[in-house]
Amino acid sequence: MAQAFPASTTTTPAPRTLVLHSPIDGSRRGEVPLMGDAEVRAAVERARAAQRAWAELPIEARAERVARIIDAFVERMDDLVDAVVLETGKPRNDALAEWITVADVCHYFTRHAARILADTPIKLHHMKWRGSYVTHVPMGVIGVISPWNLPLAIPMGSVIEALIAGNAVVVKPSELTPLALLKAREITDAAGIPSDLFQVVTGDGRTGAALIDAGVQKVVFTGGVSTGRRVGAACAERLIPCVLELGGKAPLIACSDCDVERTARSIVAGGFINSGQLCISVERVLATEAVHDRLVERVVALTRELRQGDARARDVEVGPMIFARQIDIVEAHIKDAVARGAHVATGGRRVEGPGMFFEPTVLTRCTPEMTVMREEIFGPIVPIMKVRDEEEAIRLANDSSLGLHAYVFSQDKARARAIAARVEAGTVMINDVLVSYCAPEAPFGGIKSSGYGRVHSDESLRAMCHPRHVNYDRFAMPLNSPLLFPYTSAKYRGLRAAIVATFKRAPLVGRLADFL
Ligand code: NAP
Repeated sequence: MAQAFPASTTTTPAPRTLVLHSPIDGSRRGEVPLMGDAEVRAAVERARAAQRAWAELPIEARAERVARIIDAFVERMDDLVDAVVLETGKPRNDALAEWITVADVCHYFTRHAARILADTPIKLHHMKWRGSYVTHVPMGVIGVISPWNLPLAIPMGSVIEALIAGNAVVVKPSELTPLALLKAREITDAAGIPSDLFQVVTGDGRTGAALIDAGVQKVVFTGGVSTGRRVGAACAERLIPCVLELGGKAPLIACSDCDVERTARSIVAGGFINSGQLCISVERVLATEAVHDRLVERVVALTRELRQGDARARDVEVGPMIFARQIDIVEAHIKDAVARGAHVATGGRRVEGPGMFFEPTVLTRCTPEMTVMREEIFGPIVPIMKVRDEEEAIRLANDSSLGLHAYVFSQDKARARAIAARVEAGTVMINDVLVSYCAPEAPFGGIKSSGYGRVHSDESLRAMCHPRHVNYDRFAMPLNSPLLFPYTSAKYRGLRAAIVATFKRAPLVGRLADFL
């Protein structure tokens, strides 16, 4: 049996600290302070003071300063990768993917921020004597609350967007994985980002709640649906906007004309990269009758080839679970599925020995009422269900309260796009998996209970600012304008006639009648 850890962290009464354990072997790997309300509030106040000078810099200067993070990240790449591996147990390739995502967010936004945040002129369609433009004003201090599955990529993406837009940022990482982010902050510090401008407050859920209450102007939250509801409610109470990046249950529709080998490889990657602990992991395969048997055969064979173990010691594709509770969830899904008739085609058990390893598992003969087909797994299980045709697949794909990501596999591009148009999700990928998250220019986020708001994309950068509408005079209206005092009946009639001429869509005879 795997060594049982009550959780990856424990709290000690005094001093208040979080003690961190490795998911690979349970060894102690450090501790961080458990910060309370006063410390969080003080961090936000320091951030607010630092933000004023930062916001006054021209956008080009801010972008140039933030771009230095890329150089520092390149120089300290191994340190960062090691920190992520140590903290999560994930393979070095997966840790490097986090690094790449951050570097590319930085690369894209530092090059394009001046264009994205430039004043936007608005051509007014009626008030021709006035002109308008929108200017993007930094909000102040952005609070970022992040989960344990991508401890570098998720918080740092939002840190970079917040900074370039002219804000300060305070991050509350997961209590399970704060160390990689602290390493990143050490590196941004050395790169010249003012230390009060980007701060990390460590602690548990109470620290996250304290951050929302500490006077931030916006919250970017990534985590589970139930915490997301609490965060959304807390932000609503304080009338501050929030982005909620919540859970997913990504369906993969394998059409009758899909390339079986490509689809199978994508399912195995999409299901088992990061041990399935991704909000966009392939969480349910809907395989049409025509390809089901061949697909199952290849998915099972490829899954059996995966190497699992200690990524610090050897090449592996799959590491441990990061969060002990997640193993219980995975086991409960398998138990429920088997009781309802599913077949464990491979895997299905905890791995003997130390650490929180769970075998990559493929379940076949799955049906819609099984929890594994309905609720988020966030672990190394790929459940496969045989469906009659694409119509049934679309219906089942949409029969979910979650709508973050979806996948369609077909060799017919037009057909794949037609299906993509009907699937309810924030992102639909055609003939590939996961990499959509690595496109900083494209919006990322969910619909339904997967949340609202977006990270990445030009819209997301603008949403780190208040849009300020500036309305100015192109030429002056006469002082006897009907819009200025004194009001007279003549002004009223003139205005009324102009309005009718402008808005009335009735036949001319009707309009003339109005003038009388
Ligand atoms: P979680 O339990 O919801 O926690 C997320 C973060 O919120 C953690 O930092 C947590 O702190 C903090 N928190 C807990 N209670 C809070 C409260 N009352 N107020 C403010 N903050 C609070 O989620 P998780 O287990 O870390 O992450 C797994 C979930 O994240 C999965 O459902 C996954 O799908 C989702 N996720 C979504 C995306 C996306 O982009 N849509 C990406 C990755 C993951 P502690 O950890 O210290 O308790």
